[in-house]
Amino acid sequence: MNAIRYDFRSDTVTKPSPGMRAAMAEAEVGDDVFGDDPSVNQLEQRLAGMLGKDAAIYVPSGTQSNLLALMSYCGRGDEFIAGQNAHCYKYEAGGAAVLGSIQPQPIAHQPDGTLALADIEAAIKSGDHHFATTRVIALENTFGGRVLPVDYMHSVAEIAQRHGLGLHLDGARAFNACVALGLDIKTFTAPFDSVSICLSKGLGAPVGSVLVGRADLIETARRNRKMLGGGLRQSGILAAAGLYALDHNIDRLADDHRRAKRLADGLAQYNALSVVRPDTNIIFVEIDPAVGDRFTQHLLEQGVGITGRYGQQRWVTHLDVDDEAIEGALEVVSTFFH
Ligand SMILES: *Cc1c(COP(=O)(O)O)cnc(C)c1O
Repeated sequence: MNAIRYDFRSDTVTKPSPGMRAAMAEAEVGDDVFGDDPSVNQLEQRLAGMLGKDAAIYVPSGTQSNLLALMSYCGRGDEFIAGQNAHCYKYEAGGAAVLGSIQPQPIAHQPDGTLALADIEAAIKSGDHHFATTRVIALENTFGGRVLPVDYMHSVAEIAQRHGLGLHLDGARAFNACVALGLDIKTFTAPFDSVSICLSKGLGAPVGSVLVGRADLIETARRNRKMLGGGLRQSGILAAAGLYALDHNIDRLADDHRRAKRLADGLAQYNALSVVRPDTNIIFVEIDPAVGDRFTQHLLEQGVGITGRYGQQRWVTHLDVDDEAIEGALEVVSTFFH
């Protein structure tokens, strides 16, 4: 197989830019387990401020961030409600159940990616001792690159409040949603008690996520982060990349969205390809099974990297694919279909 020239596999493949590396090299550091790392503290305070929440905690990954959130709301034998295809249910190796002894209550998604309000209500357990105790609802936005409506998130928050439940947002790509909506992150995340933000997706940092939320939740998360082995030392070197990403890489997500639309338009020209219009930076393409495998093979042989996860082709735009990469990839596509 040829080397990948145009890498659309994920927005996690970005490499730190020279400016980001310089910021990392110059970062002021200390021992973060002692709370001494000025760069980590700055990143946590900055995101807490941006989201209008009490506190934040820097963690190695989005997976750990979601797990810490769920463990902050739930004890052994408690339950969280999430979508059947939610990252924190389906794509985190069952961590909440394995490491947190927390029972998942997955709910089927509607065609638009939301969880029906009636389904959420029906899944919330009463105090009957037959049941696990429901503690928290977890939403994800963007979900598969789709932006779920802000009104919808407020409706779920109303249900959570009425039942005395917490509300968590897996906002791995929340900044993509905000840029697409033209909405500030504080307004977008207002309905939530906790929010997980990934710095290593479209924001372009090499490592790291931040869990932001209510003071008591973040305090519990700090203890559990130590327990899970996520307490790091001079992690300001990494946090500096996150600070750089917040300074330089938020507004430019609009470029990724514009390029995703251009790519989707180009792909949609071919009858064999059924293209889901992107809200943000992720495009799903369904392919006639008769040509699908050959098409994917052709792309890989010609240096166009994509994934076939979730039963469809997935193309993701990001910091390291420019306009030339979009046109180059479409050129490779055209050589398949002639
Ligand atoms: C990537 C992702 C995560 C997990 O982040 P990692 O840093 O890969 O562990 C969680 N939720 C969503 C929606 C993601 O896309």
